[in-house]
Amino acid sequence: MFSRILIANRGEIACRVARTAKRLGIGVVAVYSEADANARHVSLADEAYCIGPAAAKDSYLRGDAILAVAKRSGAQAIHPGYGFLSENEDFAAACAKAGVVFIGPPADAIRAMGSKSAAKTLMEKAGVPLVPGYHGDRQEPKFLQGEADKIGYPVLIKASAGGGGKGMRVVEHSADFAAALASCKREAKASFGDDRVLIEKYLSRPRHIEIQVFADTQGNCVYLFERDCSVQRRHQKVLEEAPAPGMREDRRRAMGEAAVAAARAVGYVGAGTVEFIASQDGSFYFMEMNTRLQVEHPVTEMITGLDLVQWQLQVASGEALPLAQEALRINGHSIEARVYAENPAKGFLPSTGTLGHLRAPQAVEFEVPAGSAPAPVRVDSGVREGDAISPYYDPMIAKLIVWGETREIALARMSTALAEFEVVGVATNIEFLGRIVKGRAFASGDLDTGLIERNRDELLPQSAGARDEILALATFAELAAGEVRAREKARASGDPHSPWHLVDGWRMNEAPHHSLVFTEGERHTAVTVLATASGWRLRTPSGEFAFSGQSGPDGSLLVRLDDRTLRGRAVRVDGEWNLFAAGEQHRLSLRDELHELESDAHGGSLAAPMPGKVIAVLVEKGARVEKGAPLVILEAMKMEHTITAPRAGRVAEIRFAAGEQVDEGVDLLILED
Ligand code: ADP
Ligand code: ADP
Ligand code: MG
Repeated sequence: MFSRILIANRGEIACRVARTAKRLGIGVVAVYSEADANARHVSLADEAYCIGPAAAKDSYLRGDAILAVAKRSGAQAIHPGYGFLSENEDFAAACAKAGVVFIGPPADAIRAMGSKSAAKTLMEKAGVPLVPGYHGDRQEPKFLQGEADKIGYPVLIKASAGGGGKGMRVVEHSADFAAALASCKREAKASFGDDRVLIEKYLSRPRHIEIQVFADTQGNCVYLFERDCSVQRRHQKVLEEAPAPGMREDRRRAMGEAAVAAARAVGYVGAGTVEFIASQDGSFYFMEMNTRLQVEHPVTEMITGLDLVQWQLQVASGEALPLAQEALRINGHSIEARVYAENPAKGFLPSTGTLGHLRAPQAVEFEVPAGSAPAPVRVDSGVREGDAISPYYDPMIAKLIVWGETREIALARMSTALAEFEVVGVATNIEFLGRIVKGRAFASGDLDTGLIERNRDELLPQSAGARDEILALATFAELAAGEVRAREKARASGDPHSPWHLVDGWRMNEAPHHSLVFTEGERHTAVTVLATASGWRLRTPSGEFAFSGQSGPDGSLLVRLDDRTLRGRAVRVDGEWNLFAAGEQHRLSLRDELHELESDAHGGSLAAPMPGKVIAVLVEKGARVEKGAPLVILEAMKMEHTITAPRAGRVAEIRFAAGEQVDEGVDLLILED
C-alpha cells in the first residue's frame, strides 16, 4: 500500500478521499488554486501546494503542475477524484511516464471510453445492447440531419466528449434539427474543446440505471450492483439510490454481467460505472462508461458496507479485489441528494456567495439492529460555515446520503435530514429536494427521467410568501432578540431594573402594540403584536391569535399560536432573519423604506444574473422586441443561459459584445418602452 498520495481535486470529493487515506494511515498531499487557499480540503491534508489561479484551466487542470507537486512531495500515487483530470487520458499517461501511479484505469481504457461514439462502436462488438442511432465519424450537418430523419423523432444530439449533462439537445421535429445541432456543437466546443456529436433515438419515460464495476490488475472484475439515477433535471442527476426500485434478480444479474463485459472489453482496472438507459419494460441499452469514481458512489457504499476509495487504493497498489462476486450482498436501501447552491425559482441558476450559516443535519437516532448497520445519515461536504461558493467551480454544497432497512425508512430519513439542513448566504435546492422526496411520484418508486418535469407545478410552486406560522416564528425571534439587546444595554448602563431598558413592544402600560413589516422577496407583510390583559396576541393579514413562546440560545424557537405549538429555528445573518421550519426556509428582513425607493427606480434594465461570458448578442441596437424575445446568451458555469426581454420595448443600448466577461448584476443592455 502507498504511504503518501496526492489528491488532484477539491471540494467534497477531495475531502472524502482524504478521509479514507487518513483512516488507512496514508499521508495526504493536497493541491489548491488561489481561490481555495483556505478551503476545507486543504485543511484536511498533511501538506498542500498552491498550483495556480482560480480558473480550473490554470490550476486543477494543470497536469504538469500537479505532477511536479507529486515529485516534490514524494507522493507515490495521484487520486484524481471526479471531474477535472479524472478522465484525461493524457494525464494518466503522463503519470505512468513520470513513475507516479494514477489511481484509475489505464490510459487506454480512458481513451476507449472517452468518446461516447467510439465507446458505442466498441460495445457493439462486445455484444452490449445499444440505443438505435448514429455514432460514426461523419459530422456534416446535412448528413446528420439525414440520419436523424431516418432514426425518427424525437432524437437526442449528444456531444461525443460530453459529460455532466452538458452538450445535449432533444429535437422533436426535423425542422428544428439544424438549429439544435449548431447550439449543441457550440456548447460542446466551449465545454469540452471538441464539437463532434452522435445522435440517438430519444427514449420516452426511460430510467437511468447504472452499474458500479470494479476490476483489478489480476484479471478479476465484479459488479457492485446498480444505482437508479432517474431523478434528473436537464439530464443531470438530482437524487440517486441503490438498489433500483423494482429491480428483479435476473435483470440485476444480466445488467451486472453486461457491465462486466463492457469493462473487460477495454481492459478496465479500478472503479468504473457503466450507464444504461432502461425502458419501462426493463430492456436496457449501453449509454456510456464513466472511467472514474462517480459522484453518487456513496449509495453503493451504504448498501454494500464497502469503502470504494479503499478498494481503489488497494487495486492501484497492485492488490487483488478484496471480495469475489459471490461474496457481495445488498443490505437495505440508500438514497443520495445533491445539495446545490442554485436557485430553483430562477431556473436553477447557480448561486454564489458566502455561507453565513451552515448546519448539517444531525445523525438521526435509531436502534442499532443486531450486527452493525451503516450510519443512517451521512454528509459528504467540501465546505464549512464562512466558506464561499464561488463562480469558478461546481456549486455543490454537500451530498446528503441516508440509509434505511427499507426504501420507506430511507425516504423518511431523507425527508427529516433535508428539513434539518440549514444554509444561509446562497440560494439552495434543499426545499425542492424535500418536495421531491415527499412527493407521491418519487415515493411510489415508479421512476423515469421525466419525473421532475412532469411534476413541475408541485415541485416548483410559486412562492406564496410567509404563512402565519413563519410570521409568528419571525416575530417571536425579533422580539426576543430585541429583549436580549435591551437587557445587554441595561447591564452596560449599570441599572438593570430601569423600566426604560425594556423593549418597546413589551412595554405593557405604555405602547400596547408593536408593528413590524417583514419583507420576503418582493412581498411585504405587516404583523402587529398586541398586549392584552390575557396575554400577547399576534395579528397577521389572515387573523388574530393568542401568541407566546420560548427561544433557546442556539436559535431554536417554540412558539404557541392559539392551540398550536410551532417548532423552528431562526438565524440572523447580515441583518435578516432566516427561518427554518417544517422543511421550509424563509428569509425575512424588516422593511427598509429607503432601499425600497432605490430598487423601484431601477426598472428597465437587464442585469446579468451571475458572472459569466457573453457568447452571443441576438438583437441589434434600435430593434423592437416582444416580451420573452431572446436577447443575449450568457455562458456561466459551462452552461448557456438565455436572457429574454421582461417586456416589449426597443433596445436602446447594448453594453457588451460577444466574448466579453461580465460581472453579476451589470446591465447587459437597456430596453426602452
Ligand atoms: P456523475 O456521472 O459522477 O454522477 P455528473 O454526471 O453529475 O457526475 O457529472 C459529470 C462530471 O461533470 C462530474 O465529474 C462533475 O465533476 C462534473 N460537473 C458536474 N457539474 C459541473 C459543473 N456545473 N461545472 C463543471 N463540471 C461539472
Ligand atoms: P452525460 O455524459 O452527460 O452523463 P449521458 O449519455 O450519460 O450523458 O446521458 C445523460 C442523461 O441523459 C441520461 O441519464 C438520461 O437521462 C438522458 N439520456 C441519455 N440518452 C438518452 C436517450 N437516448 N433517450 C432518453 N434519454 C437519454
Ligand atoms: Mg452519464
